[in-house]
Amino acid sequence: MSATLLEGAPIAEKIKADVVAAIGAMAGPPKLGAILATDNKGAAFYAASQAKACEEVGIDFELCELGAEADQACIEAKIAQLNADAGTTGVILLMPVAPGVDARAAQRCIDPRKDVDGVHPANLGAVVQGSSTLAPCTAQAVFALAQAAGVPLFADPAAAAQNGAEVCVVGHSEIVGKPSALLLLDRFCTTTVCHIGTRDLKAHTTAADVLVVAVGKAGLIRGEHVKPGAVVIDVGINRIKTEDGKTRTVGDVVFEEAVQVASQITPVPGGVGTVTTAMLLKNVIDAARLQGQ
Ligand code: NAP
Repeated sequence: MSATLLEGAPIAEKIKADVVAAIGAMAGPPKLGAILATDNKGAAFYAASQAKACEEVGIDFELCELGAEADQACIEAKIAQLNADAGTTGVILLMPVAPGVDARAAQRCIDPRKDVDGVHPANLGAVVQGSSTLAPCTAQAVFALAQAAGVPLFADPAAAAQNGAEVCVVGHSEIVGKPSALLLLDRFCTTTVCHIGTRDLKAHTTAADVLVVAVGKAGLIRGEHVKPGAVVIDVGINRIKTEDGKTRTVGDVVFEEAVQVASQITPVPGGVGTVTTAMLLKNVIDAARLQGQ
């Protein structure tokens, strides 16, 4: 058996088309202010790809480069300035910040209505309450991919009765694992979250109709970890060296093995990441609407 590819592009294209239509109905384009307070190449790369994605759909983008020496006060002052600027409808603090900066404390300073990354406690709390608008982008991407895969996601408890999907989420980060689990739980999935303390990972993963992996360890999940016919959503992004000395981007799942066992599987790249970028654009629109645009 060989699984069907669960690609991100069709979902991302639909989201982007909705974003373009939404901007067309607004008085002016929304604007995303991204704060780069690091010399980390990954963060700079992410900022560049955000700029490109925004340009494609007509969202204004401003990169606020504070440099790697920016301290807590400097970052928080920039956030306060963007919060106060009515023209800036979305604010994002690119990660990682320099050692010594308390990223969480800085994120708490972002106006929750402008928090397009969904990292403010008010937005994470709304995810717990099942009433989120600005949920973390990757968690929304996981949800959208599960939906596209045809996983039963019930809004109605009566319809859900004894019909919920068995979901296993590997990884319990605040930004990916936990909110992904909560969004699926809210739709009556029976959701197990595995992490470094899990005694028997395989026992949980092989019981799951939907396996979401968000750890950051290439090769963690092998074919033997996948229940036959399961939907596999691989969030991991890892750069590995190949035998010919080149580098390649892979997920946390050994694709060549899992594809033989799963019914549907996301590719890396081209799966979760593609939808995550589109979800950021969607969050920029949702944030602008929260501010009355
Ligand atoms: P993170 O904050 O480092 O979290 C990783 C999680 O994995 C932690 O909860 C950690 O648990 C857990 N973990 C570590 N080793 C484990 C093991 N052996 N078994 C089970 N769980 C284990 O990373 P993240 O931000 O969630 O990102 C996870 C991965 O997704 C990374 O590769 C990242 O690059 C990628 N990512 C992709 C996208 C996308 O759009 N595709 C977006 C965001 C992130 P402990 O905390 O207990 O150690």
